[in-house]
Amino acid sequence: MYRKLYVDGCVDIVCNAVKVQSPLTLEQLCQIIQENLPGSCVPRDNLKEDARLVILDDSSFTIEYANTVPETKLLFSIAHELGHLILHFLEDDGNGKLKTKESVNIGEVEEYEANEFAAYLLMPDEQFISKCKEFSENGMISINKLAEYFHVSNRTATVRGMALGLW
Ligand SMILES: [Zn+2]
Repeated sequence: MYRKLYVDGCVDIVCNAVKVQSPLTLEQLCQIIQENLPGSCVPRDNLKEDARLVILDDSSFTIEYANTVPETKLLFSIAHELGHLILHFLEDDGNGKLKTKESVNIGEVEEYEANEFAAYLLMPDEQFISKCKEFSENGMISINKLAEYFHVSNRTATVRGMALGLW
C-alpha cells in the first residue's frame, strides 16, 4: 500500500513553504522549481518519455521534458517527477542532499506515490470536490470544465475523480 497521507502531507508542506496554490500552470510550476529548489525544467528534443528527472550530483537536478508534448500532459508529468525528487531522492537525514539514481529503487509503489503527489498538488481533494459541484448541471459533472480549470487532460481529471471515489 502506498503512503497517501504521507505524500499529501509532503505536498502541503511544499505548498506552504513556497506559498503556492492550485490551479497551477506549467509556467508557474517550472518557476516554483527554479526559484525554490536547486534545479530547473529544461525542454528537450527527442525525449522518449514526457518528462524525466536527472540527478546531476548530490545538490542539483534537472527535470527534462519533451517540447512536443501538450502542456496539460507536461504539467502532470513534471509534477510527477517533482514528486519522485521530494519523496524518493531526498536523503533521509534531512540535510537536503540528493541520493544517486543508482541508490534509489523506483518500483510500482514509488510510481503510485509520484502520481498521488502530482494529483494532489494539481488537484487537491477538497478543491477538486468543490469544483465538481460547481461544474455540474442536472447531476452531470463537466469533465471538460474540470480539466480546463486545473490545466490537466480530461483523462487525468477523470482518473482523479475515480481515485477520490466520486464516480
Ligand atoms: Zn515515475
